[in-house]
Amino acid sequence: MDLKYTRKNVYKEADGKELKNIYDFAEGYKKFLDNSKTERDASREAEKLALENGFKPFSFAEKLKAGDKRYFLNRDKNIFLIRVGKEDVSKDGIRIMVAHVDSPRLDLKPNPMYEDAGLCYLKTHYYGGIKKYQWTALPLALHGVVMLKGGKKQEICVGEDENDPIFYITDLLPHLAGEQSQKTLGKAIDGENLNAVIGALPAVGDDEEKECVKAAVLKLLNKKYGITEVDFQCSELCFVPAGKARDVGFDGALISAYGHDDKVCAYPEMKAIFDCDSPHTVVAVFADKEEVGSDGTTGMQSKVICDVIDTIANSFGANPIEVRYNSKCISADVTAGYDPAYASAFEKRNSTFMSCGAAVSKYTGARGKSSTNDASAEFMGFIRDIFDDNGVYWQTGELGAIDIGGGGTVAKYISNLGIDTVDVGVPVLSMHAPYELISKADVYSLYKACLAFCK
Ligand code: MN
Ligand code: MN
Repeated sequence: MDLKYTRKNVYKEADGKELKNIYDFAEGYKKFLDNSKTERDASREAEKLALENGFKPFSFAEKLKAGDKRYFLNRDKNIFLIRVGKEDVSKDGIRIMVAHVDSPRLDLKPNPMYEDAGLCYLKTHYYGGIKKYQWTALPLALHGVVMLKGGKKQEICVGEDENDPIFYITDLLPHLAGEQSQKTLGKAIDGENLNAVIGALPAVGDDEEKECVKAAVLKLLNKKYGITEVDFQCSELCFVPAGKARDVGFDGALISAYGHDDKVCAYPEMKAIFDCDSPHTVVAVFADKEEVGSDGTTGMQSKVICDVIDTIANSFGANPIEVRYNSKCISADVTAGYDPAYASAFEKRNSTFMSCGAAVSKYTGARGKSSTNDASAEFMGFIRDIFDDNGVYWQTGELGAIDIGGGGTVAKYISNLGIDTVDVGVPVLSMHAPYELISKADVYSLYKACLAFCK
């Protein structure tokens, strides 16, 4: 018996076969990431994969039975994957896993388009917690939908294909940035300066027109997508970093990509519900709006999750209240991995480390644990036993040192429903940066953790 606890590095412990499993799993994850830049992209990708895995569309009017596999795509931005088990849902409850698929980005303003000095721009309003200076001078892609007059939905995705153009937000050259360099990091780039260049070619013969570049770009947009300027007011378009997920390091043990937070948890929970053969009823959720507070019809503060639970309960004549009280939830979200370059932001004994497995956070919050779901000792004990019994590498830590900052997840919204919930995720470096860093060992460990939880 080990009297002392030591955190283990998964790569050190793994044999050749396990190492192959880790690297193979990462290939599927990278492919998923590349197709899942926004919550719409991720939900649609999940729908595609769910159909391939034998899941069928869910209906609130349906009476479910054991063995049913269903998916509920909520307004194209939030998806519930449902696997009905043999166990009595009244006594056994539901095993719920929730990860969010929205990530920090630059949304377009409702009246985004203007021309200045021969360049055409789109104005943005940032979404989620970003360091604004990180979003200039890098290749951006445009993703989203525009509603045309009359109800046609036009999808747009430009900047991901090698032959596509990309979009670009300028920064000031260092030669002239003396004044800018004196500003604090948070103020160096103004939010109103996050305007992306989208064109520079004036319309031929339109020399007299005041905004001839803007006019020319509008003509292009109208030809390609049928949109006019006013249609931006009925759109959800955003700029995200262009390009694909890439291996990092000579050994390729890490992955850098946009949106690890929180697709690095969404992918393992989705794979787990596809791969498990569980007697329990299992639900995996891709949530929207986490980065802005989880409000709205597609966020985890919405009643929709209760509606799904109620529908499952009613199918078996069970009391939904009883079902919720006997349910258990993994709130799968990333945490801040220990970064030796910024050691003072962390407390080393209570940090999570890269490649040391799934990161369990008993509590999150700020200052005196404000606004946290603090998982009970009993539920932590339950989680420890199922992880240890199934060979899951896991570690535990806090998000940074006390009073440095803090953060929250959707855990509290689920536990507020009377469902035991704990945060289990993946440590990330450079969280919320355009390109974040994770370890292949950790995303695979979370997959094994989710499988163990479903089992
Ligand atoms: Mn997150
Ligand atoms: Mn986040």
